[in-house]
This record gives sequence, C-alpha cells and structure tokens, in this order.
Amino acid sequence: MDCLPRNIIIVGAGIAGIACALSLYRELTPFVPDLNITIYERHDILSTSGGAINLTPVAQRHLAQLGVLDELNRMGAEGGAEVNAIELYSMRSGRSIGSIDFVDHDGKGFGGYKGRRVMRIMISMAMMTLVERNPNIDITFGKKVVGGEEMDGKAVVHFHDGSEAVGDLVIGCDGVHSAVRTRWVDPDSPSQYTGMSFLQANIPSNTISSPIHFKSSALNISRHGTMLTSFCDRDQEQIFAAAIVQFDEEDLGLHKFEYGQDWATQNRIRCALRHEIEDRFSKSAIPCIKEIAQSKSDWMLYPVYQVPPGGRWCMNRVILLGDAAHAMPPRDESAAYALDDAILFSRLLVRYRSEPLFEVFDAYERLRRDTINRAFKESGHMWDKNRDMGFLEGRLKEWMMPLRLRSHRDEREAAWEFDASKITLPTPAPSDDLVSLHSFLKERAV
Ligand SMILES: Cc1cc2nc3c(=O)[nH]c(=O)nc-3n(C[C@H](O)[C@H](O)[C@H](O)COP(=O)(O)OP(=O)(O)OC[C@H]3O[C@@H](n4cnc5c(N)ncnc54)[C@H](O)[C@@H]3O)c2cc1C
Repeated sequence: MDCLPRNIIIVGAGIAGIACALSLYRELTPFVPDLNITIYERHDILSTSGGAINLTPVAQRHLAQLGVLDELNRMGAEGGAEVNAIELYSMRSGRSIGSIDFVDHDGKGFGGYKGRRVMRIMISMAMMTLVERNPNIDITFGKKVVGGEEMDGKAVVHFHDGSEAVGDLVIGCDGVHSAVRTRWVDPDSPSQYTGMSFLQANIPSNTISSPIHFKSSALNISRHGTMLTSFCDRDQEQIFAAAIVQFDEEDLGLHKFEYGQDWATQNRIRCALRHEIEDRFSKSAIPCIKEIAQSKSDWMLYPVYQVPPGGRWCMNRVILLGDAAHAMPPRDESAAYALDDAILFSRLLVRYRSEPLFEVFDAYERLRRDTINRAFKESGHMWDKNRDMGFLEGRLKEWMMPLRLRSHRDEREAAWEFDASKITLPTPAPSDDLVSLHSFLKERAV
C-alpha cells in the first residue's frame, strides 16, 4: 500500500525549504500526480539580507539537478562569480599561505563543478522562478509559524495571525531559530550564539585604488579575526567583504540594525561597526585590506548561531531539515548540507513509500546523523581559529594553516564528489508477512 503524503507543508522559503519543494516534486509526482506542496514564509517578500555565500562543487551539483543553476546562469553577471580557489593570506606579512582549490591538477572542477560566490538574493530569485512555474508548489509570504500539533492523524501548523494550515506532513526548514523546532519538535534545543559574528559590506571594486591581491576569493587571516574578500558577480564589479570576528553577546543588541530604529541610533551603530573594523584590520600589510578597513563602507552585523548536535529532528508527522535541524558555524558548506538533506529525504520518501512516515524518518536519521555530527565538529574546530588570539598563538595559527590545508585536502576533495541523487539508500526491512512467507517457502523447498 502506498503511504505517500499528498498535502505537504514546508515552513520557510530559504535554500532548504525551496530545494525541498523542488526535490519532492521531482521524486513524488510520478506516484502522486495531485501532489500539493505549500511553502509558508514569515517575510512579506524574499529577504535581500545576508550578503553573498560560497557554493561548493557539491552545492552547485545539487542546484544543477534541481534546475536552479541554469536559472542562475541565465542571470548573467549577477548569477555569481566562478571561484577556482579561495586563496589564504596573512594580514601580518601580506604573504600567501595556501589555498582551498575547487579545481584539480588539470584545472577541472570536481565532478564538473567548481566554486561560486553569489549574492543570497540571486539564489532565492533563481529558486522562486522555478516555484512560480510549478503548478504543484504554492508559496505564501507573510505567514509566520508560531507552533504546531498533531490532530486526528494530520499535522496542524499555527500562524501568528491566528490561522492554521493542515497537512499530511510538515517539513520545518525555518532556519537556525526554527519555531518548528523550538515550539514543536524539540523545545529543549534553542539556538546558541557561537561567540563570533560576521561584519559584512559590499564595496564597488572601482572605489579601491590599491591593487586587488586575490583572483576571485580570499581569506585574509590575522590574530584579530579573518576578513573574507570575494567578487560576487562575473564582471567583478562588487567586492563582498566579511569580517569574521569575536563579538561579545552583550554587545550584539547595541550593534544590530533593527527595523524602525531612528536615524541617530542607526548612525551610532554604523560608526561603531566601522570603528570595530578599522581597529582590527587597518594595520594589515595587504594594501587592499587596509583600504577596505579604512573605507566609509556600511558594515552589517550578522551574529552566528548554531544548533548543538544531538537534538530531535522529527516527530510523527513533522521533520526538520537544513539549519533548523543542524545549523553549524558556516564553513562554506552549510548550504550544501541543506541541499543534501532535501534530496536525500525526498528520495527516501519514495523508497519507503509503502512504509509509515516514522520508518522514513528513522532511515533518514540513520543516513544523516553521523555525517552531520562530523561536519559540526570540523566546523567548530575551524571556527575557533577566528577568535581573538595572543601574539604567539596568532603566529602558530599562521604557520599551521598550510599544513592543515594540505592534510585535509584529500578528505575535502572526496567530499566534493558527493552526489545525493546517486548514493545507495537503505531499503525497508521486509514486513512480518513477507518474512513469514519467505520462511514458509524455504521450509517447503527443504
Ligand atoms: C553569516 C553567514 C554566512 C554564511 N556563509 C555561507 C557560505 O558561504 N556557504 C554556505 O554554504 N553556507 C553559508 N552559511 C550557511 C547557510 O547560509 C545556511 O546553512 C543555509 O542558508 C541554510 O538554509 P536554510 O534554508 O536551512 O535556512 P535559512 O536560509 O535561514 O532559511 C530559513 C527561512 O525560514 C524563514 N522562517 C524563519 N522562521 C520562520 C517562521 N517562524 N515561519 C515561517 N518562516 C520562517 C526565514 O525567513 C527564511 O526564509 C552562512 C551562514 C551565515 C549566518
């Protein structure tokens, strides 16, 4: 008997939510032609915040499979800048200390894909184009989920405006502060501040008079944090700069732009963030970084939160995917994990289509937990290298970096070959009836 859900609710229109809708459509419609997927997003429109992100070869492969990469490519220059390597520089000496290469020795990408730095809003727009064309997927903006419950064999989602939606399955893709997680699936698993924040700005390249020291993307490291500098458009007109710095939790509220703040408060925040950047990076030996740190750019603060491993991911008719389940300190790979989740979960739903949902959830957890736990540990380790350090520790970090990059190279490159649409999935255990039939036939054969 086919147990596939027909009415699916997805909470959150981020990378995980939309990828999940597209992937479910691809996998399920051969079995459920009248599939009905509704995405509920709390914002009234697609959010333009968040700056640029780096897509690894895995993320690009999965976006290609969902049709998103074609849409990004159609956007021309704004569809992102190709990244062959993230170069690493010492801000103290100005010297190159290695690179994370997205190409092999022959200059080819992994499984055909390299890296790409692209503004988040461009990915959202590319994904939305596909959603709008799809008659089985609906998206409703301005609907903030505040909780949910299960009633009469259905999942019921509650919205801030007092309304409700009912589905056969709810997928919580509502990010690190997920209401589906904290108010439904696992209230004991609130997000935690990592102690580190991003300060981000977009800077027109033609306003920088110093030579630009990187080809497409660079991590410039110092003992006062790391400054990422990257082009995020094909014509290299914009530099995305993001400083990863230690920032006390008590200071977050004082430095965050909020909707409705008066002009004087905004101006005070702007000046304080500029000062923070100047203080940390204006002594850099790299002229371009020095100039960026002394520029009058507007920096935005993004505190980075995480969801510690080990929490619950699912209940009877609800499951968490992407950052809602396992937000980790970003390491250029978190978006890829959200895409893996979406594709693997959709494939498992079909593979287990004769089984109840809890069997699908169980198989999904068995497939994902170890990978996610390992990734979390590794991210935390890398992330820790960005905190403020003393002189000696800072030097040590610089010396050890090339060694660390080299020793993890094979592991990194093997991970970039991962293809969620091809890996072998577990198979459902045979039902008791089948086991009895099998034993009966075996006995008869004897
Ligand atoms: C500063 C920063 C830089 C990063 N850089 C990179 C990078 O370079 N490469 C990379 O791979 N990853 C990066 N990441 C991580 C990556 O952004 C996330 O892993 C990825 O966006 C997760 O996608 P998601 O859809 O799970 O969550 P999100 O992108 O957070 O999407 C969640 C969606 O749910 C909506 N939502 C939230 N609450 C509700 C609610 N109650 N009701 C309805 N809707 C709701 C939100 O508005 C949002 O649209 C970075 C993260 C940060 C914080």
